[in-house]
Amino acid sequence: MHRRAHRLSLLSLLAAVMVIAGAGFASDPQDKPQRKLGYDDGPKLPDSEWRVHDGKRPQPRIVTPAPADHPFAPPSDAIVLFDGKDLAQWTGRDDKAQWKVEKGYFEVNGTGDIQTRQGFGSCQIHLEWQTPPPKGDGQGRGNSGLFFFGRYEIQILDSYGNQTYPDGQAGALYGQRPPLVNVSRPPGEWQTYDVIFEAPRFAGDQLVEPAYATVIHNGVVLHNRQVLLGTTNHRSLPQYSPHGPVGPIKLQDHGNPMRFRNIWIRPLTAYDAQ
Ligand code: MG
Repeated sequence: MHRRAHRLSLLSLLAAVMVIAGAGFASDPQDKPQRKLGYDDGPKLPDSEWRVHDGKRPQPRIVTPAPADHPFAPPSDAIVLFDGKDLAQWTGRDDKAQWKVEKGYFEVNGTGDIQTRQGFGSCQIHLEWQTPPPKGDGQGRGNSGLFFFGRYEIQILDSYGNQTYPDGQAGALYGQRPPLVNVSRPPGEWQTYDVIFEAPRFAGDQLVEPAYATVIHNGVVLHNRQVLLGTTNHRSLPQYSPHGPVGPIKLQDHGNPMRFRNIWIRPLTAYDAQ
């Protein structure tokens, strides 16, 4: 009796393990081993070790996208920089980001620029921003900025019925390149930026590859892999000065009570299996 119960419990344990293993397998059907894929005898591609239709080429990593009815939510592999609750990922004056956080957004409040504690290189970033009721004009109205490496600025400005020098309006690569179009929403409405930033590369003091930015504002392309000529400056020419492979994302306090929400980033790591 005792012995039999023992055997039964072993069997049920084994069964439980199989169920769990099976459930794990079933829960991620995309990871299921596939039949033989592709061809072994295609010509070799010139830019990689792989052949045309090579079935042995590694499968791309699986990322779970945002839900279809909430398309700006972070995908599964994003680093969330602001989820509506706190500025723990950011730092600022006196080693603390002191902008006001409320109702799922944060607001510029005159306490200086803030920047991420973590450094990033090439990346994809999503950010939502809103300009305050119109006050002032030109660069004085709804001004902030999204900086890569703390030094390459995509301008954030209230450009709805508010002209300024074109290389300083919303979406401009500040001081270098106006956006292709002005797709600004009025003050008080949320606007989206989706930016793909390619970090510049240096060998010692030499620039090996400049930075490039692809900027999408409210779903519309403003820059398509536009080269950056260097640091974005006020009233002086852009210039590159060497820096490391990563740097902070910075948001500018330009004295206007701008609001931000839903910020996430995906480092674009080299995938040499491509
Ligand atoms: Mg600015």
